[in-house]
Amino acid sequence: MKVTEHITNGNGKTQFSLEIIPPLKGENLQSIFNNIDPLMEFKPPFIDVTYHREEYVYKEMENGLLKKKIVRKRPGTVGICAAIQNKYNVDAIPHILCGGFTKEDTENFLIDMDFLGIDNVMALRGDAVKNETYFKPEKEGNSYASELVSQIQDLNNGIYLDDGLQNTSTTDFCIGVAGYPEKHMEAPSLDSDIHFLKKKVKNGATYIVTQMLFDNQKYFNFVDQCRAEGITVPIIPGLKPLGTKKQLNLIPHRFKVDLPDDLIKEVLKFSDSKKVREVGVEWCVQQSKELIKKEVPFLHYYSMGKSNTIKDVAKQLF
Ligand SMILES: Cc1cc2nc3c(=O)[nH]c(=O)nc-3n(C[C@H](O)[C@H](O)[C@H](O)COP(=O)(O)OP(=O)(O)OC[C@H]3O[C@@H](n4cnc5c(N)ncnc54)[C@H](O)[C@@H]3O)c2cc1C
Repeated sequence: MKVTEHITNGNGKTQFSLEIIPPLKGENLQSIFNNIDPLMEFKPPFIDVTYHREEYVYKEMENGLLKKKIVRKRPGTVGICAAIQNKYNVDAIPHILCGGFTKEDTENFLIDMDFLGIDNVMALRGDAVKNETYFKPEKEGNSYASELVSQIQDLNNGIYLDDGLQNTSTTDFCIGVAGYPEKHMEAPSLDSDIHFLKKKVKNGATYIVTQMLFDNQKYFNFVDQCRAEGITVPIIPGLKPLGTKKQLNLIPHRFKVDLPDDLIKEVLKFSDSKKVREVGVEWCVQQSKELIKKEVPFLHYYSMGKSNTIKDVAKQLF
């Protein structure tokens, strides 16, 4: 079922959803199930599975020289989506990137998703390859998520890259895209970022999921600004319960978001990791309660490979 249909079926009630990351290469599928199992009691209608492109690693050789190697540390997005749909009978949403994909690769990926009975895809540009400053699209690839959305929408209309194909079938993907209440790190301003977000919606995206946020006011302002610009699709807030003190630095660095001073002060009061976790969970519970009061359609929790803090939050709400 499409995310937009799940929202309609929710009848104004906020629902629970989550995002998982594939395990590191070498680990098995059970680690994914161990992550999801404890959260199934909160009845997520859909689960997102992130996509991780290749990255360069440098290996020291016997002669001391470094050898550049391309690796994908977390493959398996497609297989995990199939396994989730099969095991839990909930919608699995693969993330699909511009980065590392030619348009031909994208089309073939989408055909696989369609054949697997996947109804939703999350369309993203992806970041620059690690150790590179700028994002570089593939030679025959999409440069921005808005272009990727157009390609998916073309397939929804039966338009394939090979215009010689006759009597093509159509797909029917519901397309999600990313939004950044604190603006995307490369955008010169929030206005400019929202301008391009609108383009993603104009090209066919029917819902938005935000980058994780720790200050609801930023979400409310963002929604107001999007609505003022004429973006009418649902905007789902992304949340992450802080689980460790280390994340105080890691999260702003990796996701380019600010943490509120009150949260930082509270975390810094404690050296005991259990207490820090309690602070993170309590903050996320309060954030979630306020968002539920505002009748957001979903609360989308980022697991980053760990479900325990999300469970602590969700059991107080769902
Ligand atoms: C909910 C969510 C899920 C994510 N999942 C993944 C994942 O699974 N895997 C992964 O690798 N990353 C993921 N990311 C991270 C994402 O790939 C990065 O943030 C990436 O840098 C931007 O992707 P985007 O789709 O927002 O890009 P875009 O929407 O293409 O925007 C990228 C930048 O370009 C600007 N821009 C857009 N269009 C134009 C244009 N025509 N001209 C000039 N500037 C333009 C935008 O303002 C923005 O600054 C996720 C992010 C979010 C919020």
